[in-house]
Amino acid sequence: MNQQCIFCRIVAGEVPAEIVGQSDGAIAIRDRNPQAPSHILVIPRRHAATLAEYVGQAKPEEVGSAFSMASKLGRDANPAGYRVVVNEGRDGGQTVDHVHIHVLAGRPMHWPPG
Ligand code: AMP
Ligand code: ZN
Repeated sequence: MNQQCIFCRIVAGEVPAEIVGQSDGAIAIRDRNPQAPSHILVIPRRHAATLAEYVGQAKPEEVGSAFSMASKLGRDANPAGYRVVVNEGRDGGQTVDHVHIHVLAGRPMHWPPG
């Protein structure tokens, strides 16, 4: 756990969040600045700054389980479709340096993304 990391503090229960899913390896919360009618973040419990660090450190089953949670939450939010996004780095639009999977649903998504 990284005391300076907002998502580590949410995982530890030190900062409040609306939790919508939990597993051994990850939690899911509602994004506080939603970009779609349903905007959920799947946050691995382990602190890894980026997707690259996460897949380098975690077992494949652990990574798979986080994406399983994302797909289940996306389908539950809208069986007609949803979008999963991971931003990495400055040019990827990452603002919180603890890996997380965005699950956006509840409106038609556009392509290419911004
Ligand atoms: P990213 O830009 O991909 O790093 O995404 C970070 C996301 O975390 C943004 O969509 C923020 O709205 C969201 N976020 C940041 N702090 C919190 C928080 N305390 N609770 C819920 N969502 C948060
Ligand atoms: Zn963290």
